[in-house]
Amino acid sequence: MSDANPYALLFEPVKIGPVTARNRFFQVPHCTGLGHLRPRADAGVRGIKAAGGWAVVSNQETEIHPTSDLSPFPEGRLWDDRDIPALRLMTDAVHEHGALAAIQLVHNGNHAVNHLSRAPILAPSEMSADLAMPKHARAMDKTDIRELRRWHRDAALRAKQAGADIIYVYAGHSMSIAQHFMLPHMNTRSDEYGGSLENRVRLARELLEDTREAVGDTCAVAFRFAIDEMQGPDGMQAAEEGRAVVELLADLPDLWDVNVSGWDNDSITTRFQPQDGYQNDALAFVKQVTGKPVVGVGRLTSPDLMVSMVRKGIVDLIGAARPSIADPFLPTKIREGRIDEIRECIGCNICVASDNLGIPIRCTQNPTMGEEWRRGWHPEVITSKGKQNEVLVIGGGPAGLECAMQMARRGYEVTLAEASSEFGGRVARESRLPGLSAWGRVMDYRLNDLTQRANVRMFTDSALDAAQVAELGIGNVFVATGAHWRRDGIGRNTQRHAPDIAAGATILTPDDILSGQMPPVGPVLVYDDDNVYLAGVIAEKLALAGLEVIFATPESLVSSFTVNTLEQHRIQARLIDLGVDIRCNQTLAALGAGNASLACAFTGRQLPVVCGSAVLVTERIRETTLHASLKPLNLTTLELIGDAAQPGLIVDAVFSGHRAARDFERPQQDADKDWFRREIIDLREES
Ligand code: ADP
Ligand code: SF4
Repeated sequence: MSDANPYALLFEPVKIGPVTARNRFFQVPHCTGLGHLRPRADAGVRGIKAAGGWAVVSNQETEIHPTSDLSPFPEGRLWDDRDIPALRLMTDAVHEHGALAAIQLVHNGNHAVNHLSRAPILAPSEMSADLAMPKHARAMDKTDIRELRRWHRDAALRAKQAGADIIYVYAGHSMSIAQHFMLPHMNTRSDEYGGSLENRVRLARELLEDTREAVGDTCAVAFRFAIDEMQGPDGMQAAEEGRAVVELLADLPDLWDVNVSGWDNDSITTRFQPQDGYQNDALAFVKQVTGKPVVGVGRLTSPDLMVSMVRKGIVDLIGAARPSIADPFLPTKIREGRIDEIRECIGCNICVASDNLGIPIRCTQNPTMGEEWRRGWHPEVITSKGKQNEVLVIGGGPAGLECAMQMARRGYEVTLAEASSEFGGRVARESRLPGLSAWGRVMDYRLNDLTQRANVRMFTDSALDAAQVAELGIGNVFVATGAHWRRDGIGRNTQRHAPDIAAGATILTPDDILSGQMPPVGPVLVYDDDNVYLAGVIAEKLALAGLEVIFATPESLVSSFTVNTLEQHRIQARLIDLGVDIRCNQTLAALGAGNASLACAFTGRQLPVVCGSAVLVTERIRETTLHASLKPLNLTTLELIGDAAQPGLIVDAVFSGHRAARDFERPQQDADKDWFRREIIDLREES
């Protein structure tokens, strides 16, 4: 590439111990919900990143022993030699495209659950297990520590045999034993592994030395270290012990992969941290202390920010998990100057939620993520059109935009009609709520693409009916008309007993709030039987506007699904700070003019509440009227997509639009097997 490229600096090679990264783009370890259970799909994810130009592609935390068993969550696994072939799939896929493969070894200490292995849980000191309630972890004795070192060393040799170029020692995210030993609240030992910082770092040092001695001739040894727990004086801080650890181990690893912990701080959502590069202040000192290359993260999608981070000497390598998920071809696009084609991560953490749910990774921005192997999807390539020429997409929300964009890429003449005065549907509306502006990137990316294509006609203010569709004469119609929120209070918890709603009750739905209406009278009751993010963010908006807000939900937590996106604790804290009156475990029983009645979710006992109005966030009803009216037209293709087919998250709407575009004119092989490829368990008896 020419030096005239303003981002040439990002494409310089970087030596990491005995190996060399071809450029500065480094996909740091991240979970996929695929791991040892779905290794071919995992290899597909990693291979596509290498194809997209990343110089280093890592796998995910890889259990080294049955005492570090995370089942049912499918992470990497290297318990013994039989696990090598599955990981070899990943390193081969990465090498095929000229990138280096990294394997992140981990012993999870008291964060392990050992549900599958039923092994004891290990920790520096006696304590409750982090996750495996009600088990306790046992303090490791010297034999345990010797054994741990042997397991780690053996796993490093296996990782090398599996083809790894870089092998990680892990001390981060509050999930790894080497970090647990460093933290005084977890390590109360009085031997040479406890007490002074030097003693608490001893295990990490030994693991690094063992790994270097075992595999360091050909493999680089990386150290993933959480320099700051973001707990203030209650935890490790970058300015104090965090720095001291880097000083103690300065040049021992070949690479420092530094971040903040726990995972909720490292992968913070844009709702709570809109600033890209948000870890820079914490990690800026590391390069001053070590002569070895440093990689850091912070939702880095802007090449200008990346260049400035290298120029300022903050990092040598641009680390990314989420930006590489949203756009596996990010490095290639920067190299080719196609900056406006970058599919920027929106920081919604749906990818993180997949891991927390133990399901294959999915991404709001990139519907092909996790589908590379099982459906053969490529984020940048799609089959050209078949015999049909024209497509009409009705509805310009995330489903319609994605469907129209992919149809246009396939070469069809695309007409996109949107009833309202703007494209974006729910994304346009929801991104105007507090903290959600980055979600607008879902429509920005697609609109930027669509508006540049000669084969696309786009219309706003065009609420189509059947007669107009017939008049257009386009035989292939995809209906993405969305869904609206119901007004009758019926939801998951009120199916048996619908709330008793009086004629004089003042009711708003999320659609009213999203179109700019505010409750006419307070206090306002926000009732949440949806439990994702919307009711919580509406309560926040109303409280910020100065209204007295009561938040009621049958769940025991506010926005309970967001535990999976690592934000629940922040959402509840924010509502408490805003003075919202939170009533958990309460089902809506009745709503009148100026009052409501909430029923205890356990006893059914009712409690009156004074409220002038209510926002009911319960269920959605699909907008299928247009679709039904089009059936008599006997169109060649008539398909309902997005929320109109099944209300869900934005990620589901984008996926639905994408799948419809992929499947259009796709020859069907076998209806029963046509969903996707599966990794079938081999039933041969184990030797
Ligand atoms: P999804 O998430 O499935 O994309 P949205 O609710 O975000 O659904 O978007 C649906 C879009 O469809 C809205 O912007 C809405 O204005 C539009 N729409 C609904 N009915 C019609 C119609 N008859 N003609 C054109 N657009 C429509
Ligand atoms: Fe980013 Fe959301 Fe995609 Fe995760 S799911 S990579 S946070 S856009």
